[in-house]
Amino acid sequence: MSAQLGRPARDIVAIAARCVCGNPTVVQTAPRLAHGEPFPTLYYLTHPAATAALSALEASGVMADLQDRLGVDEALAAAYLAAHEAYIADRDRVAEELKLEPVSEIAGISAGGMPTRVKCLHALAGHSLAAGVGVNPIGDIALELCSWSPDRCQCNPEIAGYAIEHKDAQPNKKVN
Ligand SMILES: [Zn+2]
Repeated sequence: MSAQLGRPARDIVAIAARCVCGNPTVVQTAPRLAHGEPFPTLYYLTHPAATAALSALEASGVMADLQDRLGVDEALAAAYLAAHEAYIADRDRVAEELKLEPVSEIAGISAGGMPTRVKCLHALAGHSLAAGVGVNPIGDIALELCSWSPDRCQCNPEIAGYAIEHKDAQPNKKVN
């Protein structure tokens, strides 16, 4: 995990989501890192294929469309606000479990642009993967639209024989 993240694994307090094969896709990180830095992104997407797919989706310009939808769809905006609050509640619970002092620097701050902006699909999809479908509506949409899915293993595709071993894997989710 340290190799995937480029920082010490000791700040990772749990695996929040996994690929169907069992590899971690989202890690849960302490709200304050060991060396003292506040860390708002409780759910951090680490899986290389997932991060690449969401980067490609971001590059397609979909974030501007999602931002526009938040401006006109009141139900979507309300669900996104609830996702923001759920994210902070999860992080407060983790801080309590770790017996950390409240991390005042990040009070009221979640991730990915929540509650009103769409700024990072990686953070929003990470929340969706950790919390399950129905908690973060924008993260859910990002996962539907991107080419990666936790239900179809895409770990280490460079390894010879991967295609043969995985030929009976599920096809990608349909994009609406
Ligand atoms: Zn996998």
